Amino acid sequence: MQDITLLPQPSTNRDATPRERRYYVWTVGCQMNVSDAERLEAALQGVGYSPALRPDEASFIVLNSCSVRASAEERILGKLGELVRVKREHPDTRVVLWGCMVGPENRSIFAAQLPMVDHFVSPSAVDEVVALAPNPIYSLDEPALPVADWTHPPVTVYVPIQYGCNMTCAYCVIPQRRGRERSRPLAELVAECTRIVERGAKELTLLGQIVDSWGHDLPGRPTLADLLTAVDAIPGLQRLRFLTSHPAWMTEQLIQTMASLPRCMPDINLPVQAGSDTLLKLMRRGYTSARYRELVAQIRAVIPHVSLTTDVIVGHPGERDEDFAQTLELCAELRFDKIHIAAFSARPGTLAAAQEQDPTLAVAEAVKEERRRALEQLHEQIARERNRHFLGQSVSVLVESESRGRWRGRSPNNKLVFFSHSADLTGQLVPVRITQTGPWALQGEVGDSR
Ligand code: SF4
Repeated sequence: MQDITLLPQPSTNRDATPRERRYYVWTVGCQMNVSDAERLEAALQGVGYSPALRPDEASFIVLNSCSVRASAEERILGKLGELVRVKREHPDTRVVLWGCMVGPENRSIFAAQLPMVDHFVSPSAVDEVVALAPNPIYSLDEPALPVADWTHPPVTVYVPIQYGCNMTCAYCVIPQRRGRERSRPLAELVAECTRIVERGAKELTLLGQIVDSWGHDLPGRPTLADLLTAVDAIPGLQRLRFLTSHPAWMTEQLIQTMASLPRCMPDINLPVQAGSDTLLKLMRRGYTSARYRELVAQIRAVIPHVSLTTDVIVGHPGERDEDFAQTLELCAELRFDKIHIAAFSARPGTLAAAQEQDPTLAVAEAVKEERRRALEQLHEQIARERNRHFLGQSVSVLVESESRGRWRGRSPNNKLVFFSHSADLTGQLVPVRITQTGPWALQGEVGDSR
């Protein structure tokens, strides 16, 4: 999944809902967590709750956690520290720690270490969290309101199509926390996506840990290409994306299908993690750097204007100078639109955490930081050059929201675009002529380049 996201506190119109029926959901992590949080909020609103702006205004607080990196856990622990005061002032507040930090092996340890937490719930178990809300208005026998039934869903909605992961990447804790892969049935997904679009969403992003493997565990073994084809045909849908791909699972059929579907955007996140085969083997990624290069060439041959993003871990145990040099070389050669860079941090219980205990494999923090900076520098230079290509072009922007007096949205390639306009353009596709480019965003004016 892509980079760590820290969601802002929920914004909402104030209403007269008492504290007893206000919730506060705080999310750290990837798009899967964002999607879980959206679903939870919709379900809580379905049982009579309203969002609170601050934790002390809520009787039900849910921290949706991530443990992919140590820094994400630290943010959650910091937030839990703040809740000690809230619990002291409002002892009836119920606090739930939810998400990837919660695993079967650490619940009892956490229970002793985090007395401000009342309940621990595993990732994605939305119904389990809703059942803990202290003051629901409706009986929980009634189905909770799914995100598809929100009156006003956001412009762009993430839809989980699969949970869990069957891979065993050395550094990753997700298979332990989210379990084996489970694909959601095609008919259920198409019905849900249709309802979301009917209620006003314009863009859907289908989510899975290895999204390309969707369907292999379902009867008849449908493929992601089948699902994309079905969702792409939903009337009213403007844009379709999917996340996160895996080099060992992406197929020629999927690439060809992407290219042929009118709403499927030319945008692929294909994590490479390292450019050295020695490292890829240690990481247990299941492909070689040659196979990765071949796949990128194949994608670019079929979809020449594709935007390719990747994820890289620097400082993984066993990474020598020459391994890192190969990562730099691969990134310089393949010229990604974006690289999500993470310095390795050991996740307890993973193979890489054990590898790090071996002094011959461990990478010093200063070296990790040096490598992170070197890759950041290369990344910024390439992103700046790639974005310069859009200067003077007209791109179609799906407008998501206003940000500091300017409208912000995304181009088909998923580039962030800012522009000014007096009207509210939320949810509209607007042609924007690009007047300024930088490594992380584009600026422009409404109108095309003619
Ligand atoms: S593919 Fe690897 S990195 Fe991705 S979720 Fe599965 S185990 Fe983790």
